[in-house]
Amino acid sequence: MRADAIRRVVIVGGGTAGWMAAAGIARVAGELPGLEIELVESDEIGTVGVGEATIPQIALFNAMLGIDEADFVRATNATYKLGIEFRDWTRLGHSYVHPFGFYGLDMKGVQFHHHWLKGRTLGDPTPLDAYSLAVVAGLRERFAHPRPDQPNSPLSKIGYAFQFDAGLYARYLRRLAEGWGVRRTEGRVVDVTRDGETGHVSAIVLQSGARVAGDLFVDCSGFRGLLIEGVMGAGFEDWSAWLPCDRALAVPCESGGDRRPLTRSTARPAGWQWRIPLQHRIGNGYVYSSAHVSDDEAAATLLANLDGAPLAEPKPLRFKAGHRRRAWIGNVVALGLAGGFLEPLESTSIHLVQSGIARLMTLFPARGFDQLEIDRFNAETVEEYVDIRDFLVLHYKATERDDSDFWNYCRTLAPPEGLAYKLAMFRRNGRIFREHDELFTETSWLSVMVGQGVEATGYHPVADLLSDEETLRRLHHIRDVVGQTADAMPTQDEYLRRIGCDL
Ligand code: FAD
Repeated sequence: MRADAIRRVVIVGGGTAGWMAAAGIARVAGELPGLEIELVESDEIGTVGVGEATIPQIALFNAMLGIDEADFVRATNATYKLGIEFRDWTRLGHSYVHPFGFYGLDMKGVQFHHHWLKGRTLGDPTPLDAYSLAVVAGLRERFAHPRPDQPNSPLSKIGYAFQFDAGLYARYLRRLAEGWGVRRTEGRVVDVTRDGETGHVSAIVLQSGARVAGDLFVDCSGFRGLLIEGVMGAGFEDWSAWLPCDRALAVPCESGGDRRPLTRSTARPAGWQWRIPLQHRIGNGYVYSSAHVSDDEAAATLLANLDGAPLAEPKPLRFKAGHRRRAWIGNVVALGLAGGFLEPLESTSIHLVQSGIARLMTLFPARGFDQLEIDRFNAETVEEYVDIRDFLVLHYKATERDDSDFWNYCRTLAPPEGLAYKLAMFRRNGRIFREHDELFTETSWLSVMVGQGVEATGYHPVADLLSDEETLRRLHHIRDVVGQTADAMPTQDEYLRRIGCDL
């Protein structure tokens, strides 16, 4: 091993982020000669313990770890997820779904939605939702895996993710990571020693007096950002003017039996409520703005809107939207809540951990620490946060709701520059661009723009190469095929039982 190579990686924190990092680093870099990985966590402090809904990319992370999907679904009480259902966001009584996968199919080389927009001008009222298998199947409580071997079926390109018990997932990853040689140490970090010359963290000191030395420290200590903020003073970019929700109450409840493969987000007077059906219970929470509603009122709203009896007292959580100005400083890299927080409206937090690990692996220090590589890590991280922020703000900004101070604030806020551009582009001729490989695809932006009532005044001229009759004929055909395909799919419950889940 080179003299300047990283020998000891120390991960501080054993929440979802810590164990994802431990398993990911061990899997990718664990066999580098001489590399040791140690994770320090404190049971006494505990974890955030929510974080149940994910996006499709998690399947890639699990596959990279060699995880068998059915085993993972059974072990984490998971359900499948085809998208997010948004209720009352656009206006009271309205709903739409942000699906994984695609709408319709490209015709004449232009995106499907241009033909749908043309259909609207011809008086066809069919909602965009009817052209997505993920939406139609999701609302009918149905699920099946994609069938790439059936290229003519809408099932060929359906996307899916999972809803799971995050605590069980962390435990699952811990078993893997320890099997790959990661050492776990229980203890509360009370002090840190630094190298006088470089300023790097050289060791963390535990309450027991034990000292854990390392070359690279991965800060997964949660909101407190023990090393990245507490020691390195990264600073925090505060986005609460755009995303004013700063608290949440989370409570599980008994399952009422409806396990539709959709996370549900219902807008409330000062925020929104999530509903995440797992195999054995439903996860619920109210994400709200403390400037617009009291904690007691928020708790009453949450408890009045559960499918079944609550299984615990509502758990309060406080946060601020934004991110550390630099996620990597010296020899400290922050992942998870230590690096920043964007509310779980689009289930992105666990993904941000995953992409942070991937980035760290791509830029894993080979010859000690290189500022050029660190800057790259930080720039990519900020870009990813900005893209997700803009997508989240879209949900709040593009609303007709004027029934509370909270919604009036959101509806009238000045959008970030990137979002303003995307809205203007779509309003002209229905055009959507996925910038610099951003997380959310054209389908995602389209679903939320259309769902939230953003109107495009034009569409791509190539859509007019089909006659009006042919456009409508094809649209109706696609809608019918989507509906028939959904009806032929098993229900989520049938699917879960098939892979051995005990519902
Ligand atoms: P934590 O879970 O807080 O873990 C921190 C760890 O650090 C713990 O092990 C703790 O013991 C340890 N630690 C802290 N200080 C010390 C110390 N001094 N000494 C030793 N150890 C220490 N994400 C999603 O992807 N989907 C969702 O649906 C979703 N919903 C969410 C809802 C809410 C209301 C919130 C707040 C978050 C949600 N998230 C969601 C985010 C998700 O919960 C987190 O991203 C994820 O759990 C990662 O958390 P973490 O591991 O960074 O932090």
